[in-house]
Amino acid sequence: MSKITFPKGGIHPPENKITEHLPIETMPIPDEVAILLSQHLGAPAKPIVAKGDKVLVGTLIGEAQGFISANIHSSVSGTVVKIDEIPDANGYPKTAVVIKVEGDEWEPSCDLSSELKKECPLSPSDIIEKIKQAGIVGMGGAGFPTHVKLMIPEGKSVDTLIINAAECEPYLTADHRLLLERTEELLVGVSILKKALSVDRAVIGIESNKPDAIKKLSETALEYEGIEIKELKTKYPQGAEKQLIKAVTGREVPSGRLPLDVGCVVINAGTAHAVYRAVQKNIPLIERVVTVTGKALKKPANLMVRTGTPVSVVVDYAGGLPDDICKVISGGPMMGKAMPNLDSTITKTTSGILVITGKEAIRPEPTACIRCAKCVSVCPMGLEPYLLEKLTENKLWDKAEEKAITDCVECGSCSYICPAARPLLDNIRYGKSTVMMIKRKRSAK
Ligand code: SF4
Ligand code: SF4
Repeated sequence: MSKITFPKGGIHPPENKITEHLPIETMPIPDEVAILLSQHLGAPAKPIVAKGDKVLVGTLIGEAQGFISANIHSSVSGTVVKIDEIPDANGYPKTAVVIKVEGDEWEPSCDLSSELKKECPLSPSDIIEKIKQAGIVGMGGAGFPTHVKLMIPEGKSVDTLIINAAECEPYLTADHRLLLERTEELLVGVSILKKALSVDRAVIGIESNKPDAIKKLSETALEYEGIEIKELKTKYPQGAEKQLIKAVTGREVPSGRLPLDVGCVVINAGTAHAVYRAVQKNIPLIERVVTVTGKALKKPANLMVRTGTPVSVVVDYAGGLPDDICKVISGGPMMGKAMPNLDSTITKTTSGILVITGKEAIRPEPTACIRCAKCVSVCPMGLEPYLLEKLTENKLWDKAEEKAITDCVECGSCSYICPAARPLLDNIRYGKSTVMMIKRKRSAK
């Protein structure tokens, strides 16, 4: 199988996949969960339970509000203690339903049997409705509601479903383990997504550093019609949507456009598995695989964790924080965000918890740009990061827009490679959000 990739830029940071051989372990249910009503892109869900209410695993506790939003379900059985604000992974206060755990009773509609259900007799619109009801969102990080992604607007057409199994972020292995251990369920999920989109072709793009999963998927997929496995070169950011589409189909998504504009829909591998559970087993999205990792962590693991579980409880389960702790990141080291504390809880999009020690986190002091152009050579979007940083510093927003700052996929390759240790991504991220705000205001006029 030939290894394909995207043509422009990219880097190969140390992979550090120290949990790649560790099977998924089910984490014990905590005593209390705090389930955020905003675990997705778009409007937060509206709580439909109150203090004192009894809930089961899978009970709807938050209703989606508006077109881009998602339902929220209880991940445990017990009593609602309060509806209160807790910090999210960025430290911002967000509304959560706090539930005291009592037993582990599931909604009777949830099918907990281990039987693999291959056939799906539902129509495309019924599949999409079920995915919507189950609160499925993109589990790769963005949290975009999946049912919205599957509703193709009039005038657009899709011919290829791409399953993002690249997992190109160093350290993270949650998708890798799912691909290896839940292969059939995932492939049925892909078949269901194909049916929902009415496409004949699905391609699973997976990086070459997961040979065991590639072998298992390739062998098993022979029994499934219209599903191809494409081995991708291990190169960061292979899992970025536009880079994945280019590698898999050769199609280029133009600046400011969407995968839909080139006939593609991209769905994360974990999401495809959640679709199987929702459609075939009536199980809403109430748990996910989280890679808890770090070189100094006593017990790194791939854990199946209920949403709403406190991050502190997950870290304790993995052996607790080491002495020389510097920061804890939600996600991977390249695109993840440092958490201000461990008070937040696991959401539908928490792919990893990465513990970094002080020794590992040492970054040299930034010095002046030496115009080496290394940042330009690694940028997968063909941007000029050194220039975008300067334009941001000088608040030259028109020029930054002209230089396509909003095309930045925030991969951090430029910061990683810069010999002057410039905090390019931090600055460009700020510039990008400012330009996006200016554009939004302009189009609202
Ligand atoms: S400018 Fe953006 S897209 Fe380009 S390398 Fe830097 S972070 Fe990645
Ligand atoms: S890599 Fe760093 S030093 Fe080199 S041009 Fe870019 S910003 Fe300047």
